Amino acid sequence: MDSHIERVLWTQDQIAARVSSLASQISADLSALSPPPSVAVVGVATGAFLFLADLVRLIRLPVSVDFVRAESYGSGTESSGRPRISSGLKLDVKGKHVILVEDIVDTGSTVACLVEHLKSKGATSVSVCTFLDKPARRKVQFELVGQGKFYAGFECPDYFVVGYGMDFAELYRNLPYVGVLKPEHYKFETNPNVTTTTNKGSLD
Ligand code: 5GP
Ligand code: MG
Ligand code: MG
Repeated sequence: MDSHIERVLWTQDQIAARVSSLASQISADLSALSPPPSVAVVGVATGAFLFLADLVRLIRLPVSVDFVRAESYGSGTESSGRPRISSGLKLDVKGKHVILVEDIVDTGSTVACLVEHLKSKGATSVSVCTFLDKPARRKVQFELVGQGKFYAGFECPDYFVVGYGMDFAELYRNLPYVGVLKPEHYKFETNPNVTTTTNKGSLD
């Protein structure tokens, strides 16, 4: 599997250090709220599963955890641009401070849709905590709710990345680091129409 990777963008150690500082920041921001907040951490499945697991273990406050599933990517590397919530919340987020945890904010359409959804369910605040942010590709702006904040682990260049929860065709999620695949591995065996990637330029 590692032989499919052309370049590592963030190592396991770099990820651990950054997640730890994000968790400290979030813990400090939540602790500053008065009265003590009721907090729900909502991950976007499947990509955010490792990030969420690492993050919540370092948040030193009681939190509840749930996942939503939103589909906007088919099996290629370009977003369809119209996310839909394909698996909703089990938790009642009414009156809660929600931290929406994502793997990547790319065009912004998934997060925009989910923030609106959480707002409509009565969340007191909605923050977004994304492991990676690709601001260069933003098409949809989103507004946080209440005293919600935007947290981002790393700014990601305009490459299609895999690892640390993120897939290509449902593979590579279990890589403990984030990297870019060699071009030959961005191809599909099952769908000959999907052979392109969003990766641009050289990797230097
Ligand atoms: P959006 O365009 O709605 O902001 O992003 C939707 C989703 O596309 C992200 O949450 C993420 O799951 C996926 N995505 C965006 N960029 C990448 C990428 O570089 N690699 C992978 N594996 N998924 C991505
Ligand atoms: Mg995602
Ligand atoms: Mg995916």
